[in-house]
Amino acid sequence: MPELPEVETIVRDLRPILAGRRLRHPTLHHTDILRRVRPSRLLRTLDGNRIMEVGRRAKHVVLRLESGHRLVIQPGMTGTLVVHHRRLTAVQRRYAVLEAGIGRGERLVYRDVRRLGVIWLLDDRGWRSYTARIGPEPLDPDFDASAFAAQLRGTRQAIKKVLMDQRRLAGVGNIYANEALFRARIDPSRRSDRLRPQEAHALFGSLREVLQAAIAAKGTTVRDYRTGTGQAGSFQDILQVYGRGGLACPRCGTRLATTHAIDARQTTFCWRCQRSSG
Ligand SMILES: [Zn+2]
Repeated sequence: MPELPEVETIVRDLRPILAGRRLRHPTLHHTDILRRVRPSRLLRTLDGNRIMEVGRRAKHVVLRLESGHRLVIQPGMTGTLVVHHRRLTAVQRRYAVLEAGIGRGERLVYRDVRRLGVIWLLDDRGWRSYTARIGPEPLDPDFDASAFAAQLRGTRQAIKKVLMDQRRLAGVGNIYANEALFRARIDPSRRSDRLRPQEAHALFGSLREVLQAAIAAKGTTVRDYRTGTGQAGSFQDILQVYGRGGLACPRCGTRLATTHAIDARQTTFCWRCQRSSG
């Protein structure tokens, strides 16, 4: 599913278009991805409401509305949030889940082919409890290497699982966990609490670097991911390990190994560069 860089890309594309716009005549084509809100209340709340702010939390797009509600959209593997400048074609409408007019003949559309995404409508209290359950944002300037290292010390789980645990760290999924561990030369199966302070610092640096590089490349395109303007991202062209199992390690030429033993997800690593040393 889209991770922090992909959702951040969608948000940066949509922010200048959506901020200040009023939602008109919202339509819900499917209701099975709604959480904590009935269709009728969602539509009533959205109609005429103004979008004050377009933000991101973890892997979710957050639209703060004038009423104080937040519309939170987590695009699933096959989900995208885009602005259409003309009427939707029949094919586009087929996969649309939620759409609303935003003025000037434009429409905001959440489309999701397999409907694996989630939509929440949260009031202020709901938002506070939602955001309190998610860990710190890795790119938050107030979150530093020591705070990151403290998160890692609290658990004996494999470091890769800890990076992807949304309660400990926001927004990182399988792609960027694999990439950050390779860049920091850390074995993905290492016990989190056994990382030395300098390793935790190196991993923090690698993680930020890879997330920022991915945002600059407008994300990694797998499946149906598109940016907020409907483009594909290009970070898949510069991935070093993810999806490259069996190919040569870009650093030492050793054949990259793939395992599902850590978290049942695909973990690709170089046994030579990421050799366990503790
Ligand atoms: Zn290597």
